[in-house]
Amino acid sequence: MIIREAKFLMSNSRVDQCPPPTLPEYAFIGRSNVGKSSLINMLTGQKGLAKTSSLPGKTQLINHFLINDAWYLVDLPGYGYAKVSKDSRAAWLKMINYYMRRRENLACVFVLIDSRHEPQKPDLDFMEMLGTEGVPFVLVFTKTDKLSGSRAQQNIVSYLQKMSESWDELPRHFITSAEEKTGRDEVLAFIEEVNR
Ligand code: GDP
Repeated sequence: MIIREAKFLMSNSRVDQCPPPTLPEYAFIGRSNVGKSSLINMLTGQKGLAKTSSLPGKTQLINHFLINDAWYLVDLPGYGYAKVSKDSRAAWLKMINYYMRRRENLACVFVLIDSRHEPQKPDLDFMEMLGTEGVPFVLVFTKTDKLSGSRAQQNIVSYLQKMSESWDELPRHFITSAEEKTGRDEVLAFIEEVNR
C-alpha cells in the first residue's frame, strides 16, 4: 500500500467522541517506550505525525489519524508506566476496555513488543483481555535493529514459544525496526488485505 496522505484528525479521552465508525480502524498499543510513535511515523512516512510522549502517563488520549481517506490509524495510550497512580491506571483500563468492546469499526489491534524483552505480565494480561473480548490482534516486535539479526530472531522465537504455552493459536507477528524501516511493507500489506 502506498500512503498518499496521513493526517491527524483528533484526540479524545472518550470513546463516544471518536470519529464516526464509518472506516476500518487499526489501533496501536504497547508499553511505554516500546517505540509506538516511531513505528507510526515510519509506517506513515511522516516524521512528526505521532509525538514521542515526553510525559509518560500524563496524556491518556485516543489519537485518530486518517490515512488515504480510507482508514483510521489509532494511537492508543500505552500501559505499564511505572510511575502512574492506581487511579489513572484504573481510568486507563476502563477506557481501553470500553474502546475494545465498543469500537465497532475496529479491524485489528497491533500489540507492540520490544524485541529485546522476554514476555512480560502487562503485555500478556493485555493480550488475554483482547482474546476474552474477541478482538483481533497481531504482534509487532519493535527495535529489532538493536540486536544482531540472529539474536532478534532467537528472542522472537522464544517469545512465541512461551506464548504458545497458554495460547492454542498464536497471533500473526511482524518484525520491525523504525530505525531501518524494516517491516513497513509487510504491515501495510496486511492492512490492505484486511481492508479488502
Ligand atoms: P513510545 O513511547 O512507545 O511512543 O516510543 P518512542 O517511539 O518514543 O520510542 C522510544 C525510544 O526508542 C526513542 O528513544 C526512540 O528513538 C527509540 N526507538 C524507537 N523505535 C526504534 C527502533 O526501531 N530502533 C531503535 N534503535 N530505536 C528506536
